[in-house]
Amino acid sequence: MMTLNFHGVRGSHPVADGNMVSYGGNTACVEVVKINKEGIKVPVILDAGSGLIKLGYSMANKFFNNTYSKTFTMLFTHLHPDHTEGFNFFMPNFFSCCTIHILGMETLKKNVGGVLKSKMVPPTFPIEYKDLKSKRKHGVLSDGQRFYIAQDGSPVLEHPGPKRPEPLFEIQVMQAFAPSHPQQGSLYYKINDPEDNTSVVCIWDIESHIGGDVRVIGFAEHADVMIHDAQYTEEEYLSTADPVQGFGHSTFDMAVENAEKAKVRCLIPFHYNPRHNDDLLDGINEKYRNLKAPVFLMSREELSVTLHEGVIVKQETFNSGFSK
Ligand SMILES: [Zn+2]
Ligand SMILES: [Zn+2]
Repeated sequence: MMTLNFHGVRGSHPVADGNMVSYGGNTACVEVVKINKEGIKVPVILDAGSGLIKLGYSMANKFFNNTYSKTFTMLFTHLHPDHTEGFNFFMPNFFSCCTIHILGMETLKKNVGGVLKSKMVPPTFPIEYKDLKSKRKHGVLSDGQRFYIAQDGSPVLEHPGPKRPEPLFEIQVMQAFAPSHPQQGSLYYKINDPEDNTSVVCIWDIESHIGGDVRVIGFAEHADVMIHDAQYTEEEYLSTADPVQGFGHSTFDMAVENAEKAKVRCLIPFHYNPRHNDDLLDGINEKYRNLKAPVFLMSREELSVTLHEGVIVKQETFNSGFSK
């Protein structure tokens, strides 16, 4: 069984607005969690948008009762602010007991750590990357790569030889380049739970194409869950007054088309426009929720979805415990 916890579902920038509380205002962060052989929860964290900040506080609480792994992996799709801005305030970085494996694409000849380091420096931030207490290890991912997460939460990028430890997660990477998402493209991930043979594909910060994105459709084929970029309505995408074509994002129709053609079981739209309020998103849900296939499930902040053998067996709202 694996659980998907949504900590931030917005794209572009965070937003605090009374008309957006039901879907939430934090930017991209998804936690995929499984319980390992020793009974400890081990996460893989996708992206470090502002949603990561709340997750960080909840993780810190769990470290003290030894129910949550202090070693874990973070996968970055790319390094735009809505995917990195939570990192500076990520509590586990202030714990020397934490080992964080940071993986993503190489950008400007730097790994993700190199880019985060350049953002975390006085006078623009009071603490330097090098002064964080956590142990950080960095790795570069590229198109077509396959690797796995071991039971202790660390990634195994190179095949260790014939004695392959039982993996917790198996991961595949697809990289799209501009113009799918300007200017360096984005990484998309397929995360498989080998015990359950259940897979989740993460496809955000992508602008699809006429007839669907054939690479995405192939990559995601028969996945159980597809989390897909859904930044625009069709009207917005076709607008001439405020053109958004070429900005590197999809419409809800594009997400549905890719999900249908890939024959996934469940589509979870994600990376919402920061100007889309609860009423608008509720209206979108009404429009699509009766799709025959796939199951259409709107993401929202603090939504938790548990999967067993490819099927959603539990869906609930969690309390991040962030506010005092
Ligand atoms: Zn984004
Ligand atoms: Zn982006």
